[in-house]
Amino acid sequence: MRRSIAACARRTRLPHGERLNMREYQICTSCVMDTSDSLITFDENGVCDHCRNYFANILPNWQHGKRGAEELARILRDIKEHGKNKTYDCMIGISGGLDSSYLAYAAIKLWGLRPKFISVDTHWNLPVANENIQKLQNGLGIEVETITIDWEELKDLQIAYLKSQVPYQDTPQDSAIFAASYNYAAKNNVRYFLNG
Ligand SMILES: [Zn+2]
Repeated sequence: MRRSIAACARRTRLPHGERLNMREYQICTSCVMDTSDSLITFDENGVCDHCRNYFANILPNWQHGKRGAEELARILRDIKEHGKNKTYDCMIGISGGLDSSYLAYAAIKLWGLRPKFISVDTHWNLPVANENIQKLQNGLGIEVETITIDWEELKDLQIAYLKSQVPYQDTPQDSAIFAASYNYAAKNNVRYFLNG
């Protein structure tokens, strides 16, 4: 599961004056998180706040099993119904990573959708990501349209982030990816944007 950018930024920031190595080492009794997360807290059973949040807020609302399958089937019916007589019925962003690759596979092979595939090139892609995108295109018989971000503009933004010394240096590239994706969806009147 991916955390929001804001959550990452919040959690990686050290409280004023605190030094990371001043805290006694502790690891959660329920997962692998430890005090390398500077803001982690543990309850009396040694369970971390990530686990407590998962059990209290995520799991009760996570529709899996039969209920989840029914909900997914309803959403897929909506997507197909809305996409009737259109070239595409939804949009999927491809990064070359595992999650979006599997989503592409599921959309085509398991759910019978007709997605428009896009990929946002921020100039930071590893060669393996581009190779994976090529393999996906070949394997699934799809075409991925690449939106290329202005490199000079992204460099300016990245340098501003470096100079400001904020911890989450992926923010410029993430912002560019989301902005480009949602702009594309808005311009092309795409109603369903599946995110993996
Ligand atoms: Zn935990």
